[in-house]
Amino acid sequence: MSILSAEGIAFDVKVPVVIIGAGAAGLVAALSAREAGQDVLVLECDAVPRGSTALSAGLIPAPGTRWQKAAGIIDSPELFGRDIATKASGEPDPLLLETVTEAIGPILEWLADHHDLPFSVIENFRYPGHSVCRMHGLSTRSGTELVDRLREAADRAGVDLLCDARVTSLFAELDGRVVGVEVDRPDGTKERIGCVMLILACNGYGGNKDLVQRHIPELGNALYFGHEGNRGDALLWGQALGAATRHLSGHQGHGSVAHPHGILITWATITEGGFQVNLRGERFSDESHGYSEQAAVVLRQPEGLAWTIFDARIAGIARQFEDFRHAEALGAILTAETVDDLARQTNLPVDSLKVTFEEVDGLKLAGGLDHFGRNFAAAPPLQPPFQAVRVTGALFHTQGGLVVDGNARVMREDGTALPNLFAVGGAACGVSGSKAEGYLSGNGLLSAVALGRVAGLATARAGMMLNEIN
Ligand SMILES: Cc1cc2nc3c(=O)[nH]c(=O)nc-3n(C[C@H](O)[C@H](O)[C@H](O)COP(=O)(O)OP(=O)(O)OC[C@H]3O[C@@H](n4cnc5c(N)ncnc54)[C@H](O)[C@@H]3O)c2cc1C
Repeated sequence: MSILSAEGIAFDVKVPVVIIGAGAAGLVAALSAREAGQDVLVLECDAVPRGSTALSAGLIPAPGTRWQKAAGIIDSPELFGRDIATKASGEPDPLLLETVTEAIGPILEWLADHHDLPFSVIENFRYPGHSVCRMHGLSTRSGTELVDRLREAADRAGVDLLCDARVTSLFAELDGRVVGVEVDRPDGTKERIGCVMLILACNGYGGNKDLVQRHIPELGNALYFGHEGNRGDALLWGQALGAATRHLSGHQGHGSVAHPHGILITWATITEGGFQVNLRGERFSDESHGYSEQAAVVLRQPEGLAWTIFDARIAGIARQFEDFRHAEALGAILTAETVDDLARQTNLPVDSLKVTFEEVDGLKLAGGLDHFGRNFAAAPPLQPPFQAVRVTGALFHTQGGLVVDGNARVMREDGTALPNLFAVGGAACGVSGSKAEGYLSGNGLLSAVALGRVAGLATARAGMMLNEIN
């Protein structure tokens, strides 16, 4: 990944807006810029756009939407902003927070009305840290449907998408203006594409082991569950161009990835009253804090493993997720009529597992906080048949990145913007602060979709100004 001098470089073609990366961020940026009249080229290194977006549950938090209103859920950008800021201990940039929380509701309605993305709101469980139900998803609750529908919409809108095109270098002038990119094609050829504006939508550095070990050492050897192609290119280019970076240690982890199957087990298994035990059959944390910080907690347990334990009622809620159904189909979820049988199937020590069940049941009936600080009061005791899945902790994606302003323009340390560079989604510093526990569910796609639209519209406005000048 390098920045090359633009001097004397001839480009094969020149496009007003080039976007690197065709995940949710890049495709929403492309749709927005195109709709506002810009010619756009999206460059994607994979043969088919997938990214971490396809690996996700595709759930996007948004306040004040018509789907919430129809369900009688009272919400606002202010309340959403407070939830994000509280989870991230006040670390997120207030301007960025306001930008994304104000923008996201209308964006989901725009995607539904203009681009055939029929969202609905999840009403039957609330993610940790959200004051109200505000997660919106498509019918399969899968990110594959999200990215596929966005790609189809981009296609209908006339966005040019070039796949099998890994951008390896940017050509820049001395003042940091990017005038083009170099692209590697699978047959070994290189292409040079000129641009007037560049949007970095190639996510963070989860797929770059060296950068993970440097910035998130506690997950340095953890399973990376995001898209392998996200190697921190945006971060490295931005830094080389003099961009400011922030919260590079911020990330989304997850403490419930089925092992060895490698399937995400929804955290509804916990929030609805389930709990985790280590291989000694003992609880080891307040699981209700959030799944992100739970990744490192699970990895610190013997063999880096835990069992997530719940019951058939909770499985009924979890089953709305394709991933959960997939885990069931692969036999990752065990079912037992008694705690003895559960201990036998999981190979957990029966005595300590029984003590744990009794403790949790007692806490649910008595209310109050346990010694880890969890309050089980709202959840009913687990009923047979019990269910369990062996899990490990994993890194999902990084949340720190290039500092952007309210138009998603990449900023220098001195507070000035680079001339024509934008960063969106995982390429930009998000709203989760510098720690795993700062990640509020949905912050990933929130930054991707909201900043994608903001950047797409900003490039279109800038394009119109340039046309007027010329
Ligand atoms: C298992 C899992 C579950 C998740 N669930 C949720 C959820 O429910 N809600 C939520 O908000 N977030 C979730 N996330 C996080 C969410 O997936 C990401 O925050 C979001 O998808 C980021 O979107 P993006 O467009 O920035 O990146 P991506 O979707 O990763 O897209 C980036 C694209 O850039 C391409 N690329 C990279 N480098 C180059 C290059 N040099 N040249 C050309 N192309 C390049 C990649 O191939 C990729 O297609 C989850 C993540 C994981 C891993």
